Amino acid sequence: MTKFIFVTGGVMSGLGKGVVTSSLGKLLKAKGFSVTAIKIDPYLNCDAGTMNPFEHGEVFVLDDGTEVDLDLGNYERFLDVDLCGKDNITTGKVYRSVIEKERSGEYLGKTVQIIPHITDEINRRIWDVAEDTEVDIVLIELGGTVGDIESMPFLEAVRQLHMDVGEENNNSLFVHTTLIPVLEVVGEQKTKPTQHSVKALREIGIEPDIIVGRSEERLEESTKKKISLFCDVPKEAVISSPNANNIYRVPLILDDEGLTECVMDRLHLYPKIDEEKIPKNSKLKMEDWKKFLEDFENPTSEIDIALVGKYTDLEDAYVSHEQALNHCRAETRTEINIDYVESEDLEDKNVVNDLLGDIDGILIPGGFGDRGIEGKINAINYARVNDLPILAICLGFQLSVVEFARNILGYEEAHSYEFDEKTPDPVIDLLPMQRGIDKMGGTMRLGAEKIVIEEGTKVHDIYKKSEIMERHRHRYEVNLDYKDEIEAEGMCFSAQSPNGKRMEILELEDHPFFIGTQFHPEFLSRPMKPAPVFLRFVESMIEDMEN
Ligand code: GLN
Repeated sequence: MTKFIFVTGGVMSGLGKGVVTSSLGKLLKAKGFSVTAIKIDPYLNCDAGTMNPFEHGEVFVLDDGTEVDLDLGNYERFLDVDLCGKDNITTGKVYRSVIEKERSGEYLGKTVQIIPHITDEINRRIWDVAEDTEVDIVLIELGGTVGDIESMPFLEAVRQLHMDVGEENNNSLFVHTTLIPVLEVVGEQKTKPTQHSVKALREIGIEPDIIVGRSEERLEESTKKKISLFCDVPKEAVISSPNANNIYRVPLILDDEGLTECVMDRLHLYPKIDEEKIPKNSKLKMEDWKKFLEDFENPTSEIDIALVGKYTDLEDAYVSHEQALNHCRAETRTEINIDYVESEDLEDKNVVNDLLGDIDGILIPGGFGDRGIEGKINAINYARVNDLPILAICLGFQLSVVEFARNILGYEEAHSYEFDEKTPDPVIDLLPMQRGIDKMGGTMRLGAEKIVIEEGTKVHDIYKKSEIMERHRHRYEVNLDYKDEIEAEGMCFSAQSPNGKRMEILELEDHPFFIGTQFHPEFLSRPMKPAPVFLRFVESMIEDMEN
């Protein structure tokens, strides 16, 4: 029987509930249980694909092409699993299927209502994941904050699910993640907001089993006692989650605080009394994770990377790139400082040297829309001319072709059709299957597709194989009419789709490290398994420094 853990949030959003959920999953996995995770997003969008990263952070892409909330990226990285679209439930998805069923007559004669029809649909989706995966434990993170109107149907649904699986049978539990602020004048950890959010949970019939208190420092004993008393949970079920300077340390902090024990105890994950029956693998298997952390936290050298993007003010916009670099940081024991450079600031060619002069390499992430495009092209040009290592992803890949066409082939007005429909040289053109598509949601070339790497290329040497699967999210691609001309001048398309029509990786023959990928390697990078192109990019900067 699958067990369910519901993670709710109190007081305010942005507390790192996703990291708490991922960490708990990691801990249970390390105890030998199979685990998967679902993220519930109470917004009306069907998926995150149409949302601006400024508002909601990075859009993460799964193997099956679903565009999801960035928390699913953390689940994948912590649990080392590949999730699918079913693991992200949004209000939009739920309402859409209920309304479609209503139109097709499935509820004929009935009044279709939030309870039970929407709530049943929510629970059907949760059960679907449990049955499909057959895991021991499904973690369900409820986005938003208790008390939000949007979250109500989801909380009601999981309250029912909790009842259905049998409260007494210890098949499900509620972890409430909340904020414990410190009032500066008195320096005291305040529990009142937590008490109020637990009260709000109670009003809808949910009793939290465990309270995770997010705070700057560990919770004091007196704070824990207070929460225990006022929120009616045992003191050992009040867990501190102090700020950590590295998210990968959070599982160890929470384990140290007793979270694993508490959850296993509550869910009867092993017969507590009869020690003999404790499965051998119940010992926490975190040795490799600890080694990863040790390498992460003790760098022996340091490099500076410029990330030239358009959402540089918002930390969450480039999470997967940062995490991919973090995975390389541990692998190479190198501190990687990321300098976020606004691409618009690079539009004036005279300042490019000032802004990029002291850095060791450039990372151009994917992107949409024409703001800052010329700045990115200037950064690419700077890297090419100055032999500076550069990794250019998706839009960065496309703009590398534009820069090459303009400055090497001499097509001064070359551009991507995305930004200039009148360009005489559309070296980047709309994908043929995109013609005639006018709807925006989920219509790009999305998800994991096979890529064939040419032997003898630099990229083949990086991946050490001829076929890879990588995740995509784009509408435009290299225009094949220009391929031969570009290659004749030294830019090699070293990996392509199996039919040879989609260019997937480019490399410059005459450059220490100039690589572009049409796909997004950052989505598949994991702790202890950094994305190969990211790793080689970082290594090339380290080598440059050593020489
Ligand atoms: N805007 C470009 C396209 O649609 C690049 C997309 C991206 O970088 N993800 O092809």
